[in-house]
Amino acid sequence: MDSRHADTPRKKLEAWLRYYEDLNLNEFYTDRGNMSKRSTKLQTTQPEPVPVSLKASAVTSTDFIPVAPVLPMLHETSPVEKPDRVAGDTLEVIREHLGECTRCRLHKKRNKIVFGAGNSRARLVFVGEGPGHDEDMQGLPFVGRAGKLLTQMIEAMGLQREDVYICNVVKCRPPENRKPEDDEVEICSPYLHRQLDVIGPKAIVCLGAVAAQTLLNTKDPISKFRGNWADFRNTRLMATYHPAYLLRNPAAKAEVWKDLQKVMAYLDLKPKKPTR
Ligand code: URA
Repeated sequence: MDSRHADTPRKKLEAWLRYYEDLNLNEFYTDRGNMSKRSTKLQTTQPEPVPVSLKASAVTSTDFIPVAPVLPMLHETSPVEKPDRVAGDTLEVIREHLGECTRCRLHKKRNKIVFGAGNSRARLVFVGEGPGHDEDMQGLPFVGRAGKLLTQMIEAMGLQREDVYICNVVKCRPPENRKPEDDEVEICSPYLHRQLDVIGPKAIVCLGAVAAQTLLNTKDPISKFRGNWADFRNTRLMATYHPAYLLRNPAAKAEVWKDLQKVMAYLDLKPKKPTR
């Protein structure tokens, strides 16, 4: 059940009770017999095989992924929740406003601005942290090693890169791939917000802590909300690990696949059939 649709106090309470019940995920892994005894009508997705590209030993064929209700706003007074949508905005207009940006220090060492790429009417947007070396050279998001893994993740979800939109919190490469500084994020993120407003996706996947913390306006560690639906201006937001992290920690791919399966359930996507 989606708490946004739970408009009576009773339904809201029921949604929250189910959500807390589902935090005890053990039941889904260890005692499937109990599943049939559960009185909840909460939607579950059937287990899907982990795609080869996302395979990690931690996933078993008995995994069930509960679809949790949307978490409430993490910060009720977030300045980004109620944006003033720019009238007549389009991705082209936003790109034009960005221009050959010199608003923060990142411009000094960048080669190309990486604005974003993909379907301007995408139902699903992926948001990363900031361009790396390959992206800086090509002016396109996620085209390096992490990008190849992201492409595999997208395809495992039954989509193509052209179906989704991919962008970053900061549009210029931070030197030595360091984390963007707070002031750089603050200066650049209004363009990300405008991109999301214009595209109006049904769901956003934040790749890594920087993207999630920026959109949710929180400093909480990603471990606190990764894998649970959150709300970004009435759009569902799923934070998951960054593909670069997965390259260093392949075992975490199983967790990411679970997160992506929740997104797939919400968007009614069918996973790509495994190729032999
Ligand atoms: N990492 C990111 O966060 N974004 C990119 O575009 C590439 C790598």
